[in-house]
Parts: sequence; structure tokens; C-alpha cells
Amino acid sequence: MSLKPNGNYRNLKESYLFFRIGKKVEAYRQAHPGQTIYRLGIGDVSRPLCPAVISAMEAAVRDQANAATFQGYTPECGLPFFRQAVAGYYARRQVSLEEDEIFVSSGASDELGDILDLFDVSSPALITQPAYPAYVDASIMVGRKVRFLSAGAENDFLPLPDDRTEGDLIYLCSPNNPTGAVYSREGLHRWVEWANVRGAVILFDAAYEAFVEGDLPHSIFEIPGAKSCAIEISSLSKTAGFTGTRLGYTVIPTALERDDMNLNAMWVRNRTTRTNGISYILQRGGAAVFTDEGLKQISENIGYYKQNARTLMAALSDAGIRFWGGRNAPYVWMACPRGMGSWELFDLMLNEIQVVGTPGEGFGESGEGYFRLSSFGDAGETAVAAERIRKLFT
Ligand code: PLP
Repeated sequence: MSLKPNGNYRNLKESYLFFRIGKKVEAYRQAHPGQTIYRLGIGDVSRPLCPAVISAMEAAVRDQANAATFQGYTPECGLPFFRQAVAGYYARRQVSLEEDEIFVSSGASDELGDILDLFDVSSPALITQPAYPAYVDASIMVGRKVRFLSAGAENDFLPLPDDRTEGDLIYLCSPNNPTGAVYSREGLHRWVEWANVRGAVILFDAAYEAFVEGDLPHSIFEIPGAKSCAIEISSLSKTAGFTGTRLGYTVIPTALERDDMNLNAMWVRNRTTRTNGISYILQRGGAAVFTDEGLKQISENIGYYKQNARTLMAALSDAGIRFWGGRNAPYVWMACPRGMGSWELFDLMLNEIQVVGTPGEGFGESGEGYFRLSSFGDAGETAVAAERIRKLFT
């Protein structure tokens, strides 16, 4: 007998969305050398880390040069100052968390896969679609069954559960990637009620919470009853430009139990086995995000992206194209004009106006007919791209 690889990998879709986009863009670039391409595709940020973060990390580097302040291994679940800083951030919105309910992470992507360790593989996942592709792939890799709940224009991309909704592990992402839709308190309340009645667990992806405005919820824990049915996965990637620096946090309430097993205690066991902590320097930088100064500085960067989103939305409005998102999220989700398919629109925009977006089909079947524009780029380039879109479709 020879070693058997994990056969679940055979069930993954052949080509990853951004890989396919990258290949098409590269082919265009080779055929048209010297042409500027305007990238409103991949959701990476363009603004640098803010000064408060940089000074905190510089000071932390100096701490590492000195025997008196040197930090070796850090506690697997997070350094106390980082956990306290995150708890303080939640307290600003009247969400009270204990330090030991907050776990440091290297970002949301790692957690979205790793957290599945807590649940028996026989418990199916329910994923609202269109969805961030990692939810589906992480489940398929471990052999978990996946069901989909379609979101569409008819429910403003915010599906709600009813008596027939089935699933043990439900992924909710609000503000949503790719649609930019944000659940209201009432909407999240419906999900919390449903999960508590069924004994399901909500995996709430709050990677874009910092873009929420007004009274809309940033966290599932703003909803009464969520501590007995939800885990929140968050990240400093989009909040504070940590995409390449890598830091996030996950909240698992101590009250969260299933079958007499405590999920918070299980995650402590998982982290202490699977990790040896996260860099002291990064946690110092992360804690600086949640100071008054840090929050003011990151909000300036978020304001910059929001201005880009307004530029894109204005162009779409002028061209009479329907869209969602853009206000409480960095993504503008447009309906493909003239009945085009989403890859058809991708090719048209790349070839005619050199603007790269993300075809909705890459986020699942129900994303077909839609197209995602990201506001994370440079303001000047976004303005040129918006103008080209306006001209092409007016
Ligand atoms: N969740 C969503 C919805 C995302 O869009 C992304 C990144 O684009 C992530 C999670 C991953 O973020 P991180 O950089 O923290 O791994």
C-alpha cells in the first residue's frame, strides 16, 4: 500500500478566480506592451500602514534588541496587551468581551480554514452565495458538504433564513465580499434566532467591518443572543492595511458550547498545539491601530477608499447601470450591462478600456450577470477607470 493523498482536493474547482484573471491580464499585456492597465480587480489595499502602527512596530523592533525588553515566544492565543486593545475596540460599540474570548491570528484567511477543525466533518456548511471563494474551498478540502443559499437582487444580496433553511455551520460575511451588502440589525437578529433554535454556529466574517457607517452593525456580537451561536473572524488587512503584514483576531465567546463541548476551550487547545504565537512586533503594531490616534489615521485611509467608491458609483449612475454596495464596503457590485455574462464583460473591459474588474461568476453561480469593482486602488487611476466605464456604457 502506498500513501494516499487527500482525495477531496479532486473536488476543488480547477482554476482559482484570481489565477484566471491574472493569466488573461498577462496575455493582454504581452500582446499590448506599454499599455496602462487599470486594476479594479483583486481586493488588495494601496495605502501604506499608518504612522501610529509604524512607530509602534519600530519601538517593538528596538525592544527585541534589548535583553530587558526582548520577547521570545508569545502566548499562543495572543499577548494580553493585544487582546485588551481588541476588547477596548469592541467596548466602543457597547460589546463587552473578556480578554480570553479574543484570539490573535495571522489574518482571516488562515482562520477561515483552521476554525473548521472545531466541527465534525459530517456537519454541513451553508454558504450564502455569491461568496468569498475561500469558504467553499476550505470546506471542500476537508470533505465537508456545502449547501448554498442564493443571494440576489430580489433580496438586495442579503438572504435570510426561514423554517426550511438547513445547515449546521453558516457563513455570513457583512459587509459582504463581493456584493458590498451589509446586514441590518433585524437581519442579523433573524440569523441569530435561527442558529440558536437549530443549534447551528454562525461563522461571521467581519473583515470589512471598518467600512460600516451609521447605525448598521459592525459585529455579530452587537446582536443579543449571538454569544451562544457565533464566532467572529476579523482582520486588520482591510481595516488598517495589514494585507502584507498579516494580523487578525477571532472572537469565540466562552458561552459557546455544543454537545457539552466548549468551543472557546477547544480553540485554546487547537492554538496551543498548532501555533507558537504571533510576532510580538506585529501585535504591538496591531494594538496601535486601536488607539485614538491609530483609529483616526486608519479612518483617513478608509475615507480615501470610500471616495474612490463614490467616483465609481457616480460613473455607473451616469451610465444607467444598476449597482449595490460601495457605501459601507470597499466593493461596488454592478449588474452587467446589456445582458452580458460576467466573463464577457471582463474581456470587453480589458480589451476596450483596459480596466480590470472581477467577474461575478468567480464568486459562485449566483454571481453570474454581475461584476465587482474594487475601490482599493490609487485615486487617480480609479478616476480614469471610472471615466472610461462611463464613456463605454453611456
Ligand atoms: N474574508 C473576506 C471576505 C475577504 O475578502 C478576505 C480578503 O480579501 C479575507 C477574509 C482574508 O483576509 P486576510 O488578509 O485577513 O487573510
